[in-house]
Amino acid sequence: MKNKNIKHIMFAVECVVLILLVVMLGHSVNKANRLSVETEALKAEVENLKEQIKKADEEKAAREEAAKEQEKKAAETQAVTAEPTPTETPIPTPTKAPTPTPEVYLTDLSGANPGEIIDDALIDPYDIGKYFTSTMIAEGDEIFNRIIDRSFRYNDNIALSDLRYIKLLHRNYDGQTQVGELIVNAAIEADIIDIFTQFYLNGYQIYSMYLIDNFWAGDGDSSDYASIDVNNTSAFCYRTVTGSSNLSNHAYGLAIDLNPLENPYVRIGDDGYGTSAHANAQAYNNNRSSAEMPHVIDHEDLAYQLFSQYGFTWGGDWNNPKDYQHFQKEFG
Ligand SMILES: [Zn+2]
Repeated sequence: MKNKNIKHIMFAVECVVLILLVVMLGHSVNKANRLSVETEALKAEVENLKEQIKKADEEKAAREEAAKEQEKKAAETQAVTAEPTPTETPIPTPTKAPTPTPEVYLTDLSGANPGEIIDDALIDPYDIGKYFTSTMIAEGDEIFNRIIDRSFRYNDNIALSDLRYIKLLHRNYDGQTQVGELIVNAAIEADIIDIFTQFYLNGYQIYSMYLIDNFWAGDGDSSDYASIDVNNTSAFCYRTVTGSSNLSNHAYGLAIDLNPLENPYVRIGDDGYGTSAHANAQAYNNNRSSAEMPHVIDHEDLAYQLFSQYGFTWGGDWNNPKDYQHFQKEFG
């Protein structure tokens, strides 16, 4: 009996041990299962992190690539802007000092007509003298045909051979270079060329310079009036002094009338007030000042200063009448 009991107890113990084992096994399996699931989750997380790192690396590489590209482009742009710098322009090595190219400048005024405007770029600044020329007048030539029986007629006082035709440049009232002409006595041709060259170089403005024959009105006095009325500068005209039988200095080619509109021939009345024959010149009869009025000749004006330097006298210094446009040179 005792043995039977022992057997029963043993069996029960075995059973309990077995149950315990089963329970423990179940636990282990459970745990293993749980661990395996956790491992999977961790693995997935590691994969995910790896993916993120890869992405971040790719993004970094792309950023670096873009930065490099930008740097390259900037360098190229700099190279393009830097291209036309003077240091890169081939500089010719001249063997001697640069000289003006003659073909771009006007060689003389032979092809230019009085009154013509000349482009300043065509004027040779190194040889201005070729645009201020004096020539003799010969019977039958172009100038002779313009003046015969007009400003010139055969007489006992002045011969054709005493006269010179001067072609020159002057600045007009717009400051442009304009071709002018003048007939003067051979005795003052050099003075006139010097003075008018100085006028041109100093930008002194002269309205126009045509021979008085361009305004011929039948006789010397009327033609003189017509020329003055359009502010024309002129010199020679074989005529008497206005209102007299004496020959004018213009008849010898020894007098010149400059910008006559702003510099009229003025008679001073008893009231001390000046009047002139030209309606368009009234503003210039009295209270004259070259500082305030363009083209007015007074003692401060370049015209007065240059002409007196060359020995000419000025009609503005006469007492009455006053001839503000008039400069003349007397000999002997
Ligand atoms: Zn005069």
